[in-house]
Amino acid sequence: MVTKMKTAKVAERIRTLPPYLFATIDELKNEVKKSGVDLIDLGIGDPDLPTPIEIVKSMQKATKDSSNHRYPSYQGSFDFRNSCAKYVKKRIGVNLDPDKEVLALIGSKEGIAHLPLAFVDPGDKVLVPDPGYPVYAIATRFYGGEPVMMPLLEENNFLPDLDKIKAKTWNQSKILFLNYPNNPTGALADESFFKLAIEKCAKYGVLLAHDAAYFEVYSGRKRPLSVLEIEGGKDVSIEFFSHSKSYNMTGWRLGFAAGAEYAIQTLGRVKNNVDSGAFTAIQQAGITANEMLAKHRNDLRKVYSNRRKAAIRVLKKAGFDVFDDGATFYVWIKTPEGYTSSEFTMKALEEAHVVVTPGNGFGESGEGYFRLALCATEKRISEAVARLVKLV
Ligand SMILES: *Cc1c(COP(=O)(O)O)cnc(C)c1O
Repeated sequence: MVTKMKTAKVAERIRTLPPYLFATIDELKNEVKKSGVDLIDLGIGDPDLPTPIEIVKSMQKATKDSSNHRYPSYQGSFDFRNSCAKYVKKRIGVNLDPDKEVLALIGSKEGIAHLPLAFVDPGDKVLVPDPGYPVYAIATRFYGGEPVMMPLLEENNFLPDLDKIKAKTWNQSKILFLNYPNNPTGALADESFFKLAIEKCAKYGVLLAHDAAYFEVYSGRKRPLSVLEIEGGKDVSIEFFSHSKSYNMTGWRLGFAAGAEYAIQTLGRVKNNVDSGAFTAIQQAGITANEMLAKHRNDLRKVYSNRRKAAIRVLKKAGFDVFDDGATFYVWIKTPEGYTSSEFTMKALEEAHVVVTPGNGFGESGEGYFRLALCATEKRISEAVARLVKLV
């Protein structure tokens, strides 16, 4: 018998990881829940609505076809890539070669997390929005890269100030991550901003990685833009699209990347050696989703837009400072005078029994804000907001 058991030492990149934001909140949430109170969870951005039945049926049919039971093609089936290219053409009028400029993903997070593996050598820099989706910075670190945080400030409509970044930093950078409609702020980017981003990336040889996970989630006042539809954009960019938020399909794990051939092909080489692609039956369901967009999108917009209005009206009336570009299913709100993000989140949880997300969990520049996810019924959202209003 072994007298003294030894275990493997965990890699430094894991040991030095910050705690996953939602895991920490989950722990506190479960504690409050144990006391039996009626907790309203507006913390995580995960649609409460079901996947449209047409998509579910399409998947059921596809699972019965045994040819779908074998290894998928790592870059995605031609039919899926072709359907994604058609969707892009229809939405923004851009032609894509489905063989060279489209890649199926196992959810867009998968593609985003693998991108630095394709482009970042140890010591390289990656430009990352702050506040932002945590995957950009963490995936960069995993491969030895150095994230350079770009503050998203309200006075700048939550766009990074690209002119402020020094030429030296641009020269050392490989990727510029952007995300509009933006999580967590809900901000949209305009054409002049994307033009500047494309110009900088072309000048300094940086890959523009645009996370368009919320491309279809907007109220309709202003349409989100794709970097691919802006002059020169397709040559320097990779854009990440996701079926998750557009079709209430977060659990299915499906998305696609589109853009510059060199970027798509290089990310494809990574995936070829890491995973074997998305289940073909799920891609089949994704084709159905792409084709039903026009009908489904209107329903989706109506739901979120009603929820947004209900929440914002009450919050504003009570004096909360709310940012509203009408996009994503998030509401980004300043914490009341005298509270840090964490303090207000704790108060909301313990006294109002409402789960919100502290802004600083998305980066230093998120301090002083909290985020609501409109992923509950309008009735529950109204109840949650009424409780928050009573707190202050
Ligand atoms: C939800 C989300 C994603 C991930 O989407 P999946 O396609 O489900 O992996 C990517 N980026 C942002 C900003 C998100 O909020």
